[in-house]
Amino acid sequence: MSALRSLALAAADSPRLQRFVQRYGFRLGAARFVAGETLDDAVPVLRRLNDDGLLTNTTLLGEGVRDEAETRAVVGAYTEVLDRIHTEGLRTNLAVKLTHLGLSIDEELAHRNVSELVEHAASVGNFLRMDMEESRTVDATLRIYRRLREEGHANVGTVLQAYLFRTEDDLAALLPLAPNLRIVKGAYLEPPEIAYPQKRDVDAAYARLMEASLERGGFTAVATHDETLIEHAIAFAREREIPSERFQFQMLYGVRPRLQLDLVRRGFDVLVATPYGTEWYRYLMRRLAERPANLLFFARSLLRR
Ligand SMILES: Cc1cc2nc3c(=O)[nH]c(=O)nc-3n(C[C@H](O)[C@H](O)[C@H](O)COP(=O)(O)OP(=O)(O)OC[C@H]3O[C@@H](n4cnc5c(N)ncnc54)[C@H](O)[C@@H]3O)c2cc1C
Repeated sequence: MSALRSLALAAADSPRLQRFVQRYGFRLGAARFVAGETLDDAVPVLRRLNDDGLLTNTTLLGEGVRDEAETRAVVGAYTEVLDRIHTEGLRTNLAVKLTHLGLSIDEELAHRNVSELVEHAASVGNFLRMDMEESRTVDATLRIYRRLREEGHANVGTVLQAYLFRTEDDLAALLPLAPNLRIVKGAYLEPPEIAYPQKRDVDAAYARLMEASLERGGFTAVATHDETLIEHAIAFAREREIPSERFQFQMLYGVRPRLQLDLVRRGFDVLVATPYGTEWYRYLMRRLAERPANLLFFARSLLRR
């Protein structure tokens, strides 16, 4: 793992750096990856992406909430987002973090909060995906996913991370549910005891998971900007005659926008993950960690101001 990646991911947990970057960073760097600080900022961005033929999801940024009342406010905010998507006629669904909805406090609380949102999403014909966070949250996230499906909710999905050794077993256990899964490489700092440290091993695991999910899962979101893996998915789907309704590509707002549009022109569904909110610091640090060039660019613009 590159030293810069570790540094940026460690910086994601530094309150001092957060205060500094939060003061200056939005204009200087965060605006590239975040659709704005309010829902009103995000709506025109989502609409423009939709007008370009891209599907979108949105996330109110925030994670690791430790106060129950705050998690209720997050449920209220997302309810408003779902209603706004509905009235604006946007092709946008939700991606939420369970630690934003109380998972760091109590699994039952997170389950109650997320079920309320999944129900509300169903009432307006929408869908909600639970992101995957640090490895300590994986068991609870998968338990909540399973529970929601067993309770009869069909409009919910979650995420599997290729860098974790455990993920192939997790996928095998989920397949009987015909799960709706987003496959990602994984964005957090994880120890070599549980996660592949080498990029080539992560990429190989990604290809295996993607193939298994495409072939035997319900719906697969191939969420990567890695063109080799994207072409691999296209060739695999064509060869196995996997219908186009059973998968889509997903990328992040601000990352490889031309590739996003090229895939739309080639007839594929592409969803752009488009978060907003004032709590963009940790999200930005993870984006910087993914590409050392971003980190250097961002550091230079901070110093230049
Ligand atoms: C829609 C979506 C949802 C995600 N959800 C989760 C989640 O729930 N949990 C989780 O752990 N991770 C999540 N991730 C992040 C993911 O785990 C990776 O950290 C991230 O996608 C970078 O890996 P990559 O697959 O693009 O491949 P890489 O091999 O890292 O990148 C391939 C190429 O893409 C470009 N690229 C990648 N990242 C950036 C960037 N930040 N800036 C500029 N160029 C870049 C570069 O050209 C790079 O060479 C998500 C990613 C996407 C696209």
